[in-house]
Amino acid sequence: MAVAQESINGPALVIGATGFIGRFVADACLDSGHTTYVLVTAGGKSPIRAASIEALREKGAIIIEGRINEKEFIEQKLKEYGIEVVISSVGGTNILDQLTLIEAVKAVGTVKRFLPSEFGHDIDKANPVEPGLTFYNGKRRVRRALEAAGIPYTYICCNAIAGWPYFDNIHPSEVTPPLDRFQMYGDGNGRAFYVAGNDIGKLTIKAAYDLRTSNKTVHFRPASNLLSLNEMASLWESKIGRKLPRTTLTEEDLLSIAAENIYPGSIVASLTHDIFINGCQTNFNIDGQDEIEIGDLYPDMALRTIDECFDDYISNLNLKQDLDENLKE
Ligand code: NDP
Repeated sequence: MAVAQESINGPALVIGATGFIGRFVADACLDSGHTTYVLVTAGGKSPIRAASIEALREKGAIIIEGRINEKEFIEQKLKEYGIEVVISSVGGTNILDQLTLIEAVKAVGTVKRFLPSEFGHDIDKANPVEPGLTFYNGKRRVRRALEAAGIPYTYICCNAIAGWPYFDNIHPSEVTPPLDRFQMYGDGNGRAFYVAGNDIGKLTIKAAYDLRTSNKTVHFRPASNLLSLNEMASLWESKIGRKLPRTTLTEEDLLSIAAENIYPGSIVASLTHDIFINGCQTNFNIDGQDEIEIGDLYPDMALRTIDECFDDYISNLNLKQDLDENLKE
């Protein structure tokens, strides 16, 4: 007889909530009604960061100051607050800090679900060139450590964030579609799944508390959000009401930028190559026992389409123009 699984309803600890992906996750956790603890580091007093922490506090988050690589401190907080779900969204340079967090979670033994900082491709399937490969090797180490520790996990593979994929961005939050020219990769027919940040947050929280996703990789591959760059460009042109010129980066161009090994541009170039030349988001089937598609989990939940996301960018542009004009007056 199958043993009934216990439920997960307890408090969540969200790590990285002052970051790009973490803010979506923390907001969604608060919206879901789960008690939400947010770990913030003591460093960095920028006004934007302080405002972000304040907004989370006002929304009901309980702020804890500290770092995930402080094992005893984390153990103490996990016990004290009865944390059942840990969601980490630390950025690229801090991926290996999670190894200490995993040790703390294992030592406490009461966390029912751990979501490591993934939020991209299936790093066991994708195979980017360097320096993206070293970045993925860090994330792979975290996966293996979690599995070895026997902590129930969920890997969120949400693919690309809805917006324009710039190969030379400083940070993936810079995704506003262009107004001057399109940068195309290869022949522009390479396709990707583009998912709105709010949907990534919402679905991450649903998956974190879902018994069906224990020890599973959850793929975000909504058919409605699968577009080629050529299709993205035409859609954006229809929104702004004019044609934009296109410049092309070939496979060789992307590989040579990656080979320069300059952080962070070369990492982004190697991942851009993997998406648009290798087709890493689409070149495999989801048929393993340990993987599941978000649409199969939540068939009734409609994700924002690229069309709607582009409308949001237009509204923000109009708002910005109004503000600029008011400032001139
Ligand atoms: P950010 O760099 O924007 O934010 C990182 C966060 O982690 C910050 O809040 C930072 O806090 C916190 N942090 C870092 N180290 C520690 C530590 N030792 N202890 C506690 N907190 C810490 O990260 P991103 O949102 O860009 O990246 C998160 C994940 O999402 C990554 O795995 C990344 O690869 C992925 N990603 C995927 C994208 C996609 O398009 N699919 C786009 C962007 C990211 P503080 O502010 O105090 O330093």
